[in-house]
Amino acid sequence: MSKIGIPRSLAYFIYFPFWKTFFEELNQEVIVSSPTTRDILDDGVREAVNDACIPIKLYHGHVADLASKVDYIFCPRLVSVRKHGDFGTETFCPKFLGLPDMVRLAMDNLPPIIDVRVDLKQGKDELLNVCSQVGELLGKSEAEIKKAYQRALLVQKRFKKLLSQNMMPEEAIEILFANGERKPLLIQPDLQIAVVGYPYAIYDDYINGRILSLLEKENVRVYTQDMLSDKMMNRQARNLPKSMFWYFSNRAVYGALHFMQQKNIDGIIHITAFACGPDSIVDRLLEIEARRHGQIPYLAIAVDEHTGDAGVRTRVEAFLDMLRFRRDKS
Ligand code: SF4
Repeated sequence: MSKIGIPRSLAYFIYFPFWKTFFEELNQEVIVSSPTTRDILDDGVREAVNDACIPIKLYHGHVADLASKVDYIFCPRLVSVRKHGDFGTETFCPKFLGLPDMVRLAMDNLPPIIDVRVDLKQGKDELLNVCSQVGELLGKSEAEIKKAYQRALLVQKRFKKLLSQNMMPEEAIEILFANGERKPLLIQPDLQIAVVGYPYAIYDDYINGRILSLLEKENVRVYTQDMLSDKMMNRQARNLPKSMFWYFSNRAVYGALHFMQQKNIDGIIHITAFACGPDSIVDRLLEIEARRHGQIPYLAIAVDEHTGDAGVRTRVEAFLDMLRFRRDKS
């Protein structure tokens, strides 16, 4: 049995249930890096190239956290998960495409990296091909791999269903793998807000200044784009003259557009990553769309390695005050 390390960062928040199930069905032990701390972030900043965005630096910190504890680091080269966009060219952002190389070149003393290429626009059997490559590397038979793959698909489907019931990924992961219980929903929320952005910016509580916890304390019900079905998202894609090239950027935009059309949503918060090229376009587009959709209140919060809870709290509290004032006045 090998120990497979999965960094708690980037695609972890969306695809972890699939890969955890797949590896465990193949009798491997899955070790996840610890939730982000100042030390993990500092390690990442030290290890990664200087001009990388904060999520990529943080990913390096999570790899460092795992390096001495595991036999392999699972760091796939995420290229695409669907054929979408103009001419079917949607991909992950270039940093994802080069991630295994960045990690390997920047860091010393790493265990072997499983850097399988995931390019699902190639066809419907591609995910099974990817799993076969990983399984063969671990010395597993075709039958074992296929069984693990099918089980992983089922668990991932259950995960998506939990998210669609307004659950956050970590809570859904707890329920799937640790007999966790669902947190009770706010019965009478004071406000309802959509928080959109990259999953690794929204759900990493440390890096975004604990914004979700803060909103919960303020009696705000939060929705994110990952609670929406593919059908709801793709409806928004059809309303745009053009989609973007990048998968996670498209999801943030489609999700925000969906929530801008919902009467029950009081405002939108976009969590954006400092030094992110794609986000400079996403943020401008969302600002324009928020104005077009009857001036729905819109707040962008950029996170970087210096983001502190106090700065985020001040901005979010001011935003909530403004929303309450607006509501009470109408
Ligand atoms: S989309 Fe932006 S934040 Fe995400 S990895 Fe790429 S550059 Fe970094």
